[in-house]
Amino acid sequence: MRDLSTVVVVGAGAAGHAAAATLRREGYAGSVVVVHGEPGAPYNRTLVDKAILQGLLTLEQAALPAVADDVELVPARATALDASAAAVTLSDGRRIPCAALVVATGSAPRRHDLVRAGERRVVHVHTAADAVRLRGLLEDDGVTRATVLGAGFVGVEVADALAGAGLHVDLVARSTLPLVGALGESVARRVAGLLQGHVSMHLGRRVERVAPGRGGVTIALDDGTRLRSHLVVVAHGTMPATAWTGTDGGILVDDRLRAAGGPRVYAAGGAAVHETTFGVRFRIDHWDAAAAQGTHAARTVLHDLAGAPDPGPYVATTGFTLRMRGTTVAASGTVPPGAVALQQETDDPDAVLTSFHRPDGALVGAAGIRAARALLALRANIHRP
Ligand SMILES: Cc1cc2nc3c(=O)[nH]c(=O)nc-3n(C[C@H](O)[C@H](O)[C@H](O)COP(=O)(O)OP(=O)(O)OC[C@H]3O[C@@H](n4cnc5c(N)ncnc54)[C@H](O)[C@@H]3O)c2cc1C
Repeated sequence: MRDLSTVVVVGAGAAGHAAAATLRREGYAGSVVVVHGEPGAPYNRTLVDKAILQGLLTLEQAALPAVADDVELVPARATALDASAAAVTLSDGRRIPCAALVVATGSAPRRHDLVRAGERRVVHVHTAADAVRLRGLLEDDGVTRATVLGAGFVGVEVADALAGAGLHVDLVARSTLPLVGALGESVARRVAGLLQGHVSMHLGRRVERVAPGRGGVTIALDDGTRLRSHLVVVAHGTMPATAWTGTDGGILVDDRLRAAGGPRVYAAGGAAVHETTFGVRFRIDHWDAAAAQGTHAARTVLHDLAGAPDPGPYVATTGFTLRMRGTTVAASGTVPPGAVALQQETDDPDAVLTSFHRPDGALVGAAGIRAARALLALRANIHRP
């Protein structure tokens, strides 16, 4: 049993690491415990498909720095949350009651049935272990063709990486443009242009069947196309990794990142579900946004437990970049469902810049290609009245 000044942070990725570091840096005097549910040290997940898959970094090299000597890192999985008592049960059977609990367990890939059934040639790329496993498959003799299902961030980056490694890559997606949900149509069209000729794209297509057989996997598309490949990467997006809390729909939070369901429970990063003033619910699953939420949640904890100043509402202004075929794609803020996209003028005729607005006109996000400076200027106005 812990004393009730303990703050438990479940998850040691972007949000969990930032939450624990903020608690210590900003003077929390009680115990801080971080629960990490994967083998090995906590690591930077963005490096999974940019460095670990390619063998550029080992897991040790992709590890996050230790938060502080006096933060306890517990290698276990959280298996249950008692929200009314702010207590967590771990896979080793322990139950830790605490003064406050931050849910920072991130996301999990939408599982494909064949992955669940243990088919080794059908994989996800989410964890460091996934990247190591896929790397092992690439080293098998005669592996020259891969199919990637899904053209979101992970699908596009993995397709680009596998094609860069010399494989023939088929990229299949229901959407008619890669990354269109996150970047808007104009930027997504340019991303498609960057991938053209590098990977073979089957956009606007539905997968009817994935059939593993001798030496490969056959994928049947709704237009009658049959794709044969040696391995398949399924990148059909993610779900909040919150099944252990009793819901796999994520933790609904208020604007201070307090969980709706428990008085001393908070959530940050991929596990947190935000709600706009128009009632639209969404998650923001990027590294910097998750870290900013971890920091914000910790400041709310400090306010609630120790009388620190109210951090005010969390506002998503952080961004992310994607480097593809020598071109940087960048975005800031969010694109909540229903956001209105507007094309912005830029000085450079090669640049594309799109801003995203709420129904009342407020700027909530922006995305661009070759438009870094203009994007930064827009970023300063995100969520300004
Ligand atoms: C392959 C890949 C590439 C990406 N590239 C980029 C990029 O370039 N830029 C970008 O901005 N974002 C990128 N992202 C997204 C980014 O990694 C996430 O948005 C970010 O990691 C979310 O932070 P988080 O703290 O919410 O979750 P995570 O960083 O995923 O951390 C979750 C933590 O919770 C732990 N955990 C999960 N379940 C349990 C449990 N039951 N018990 C205990 N611990 C548990 C995990 O082990 C981990 O420590 C990428 C994601 C992937 C999968």
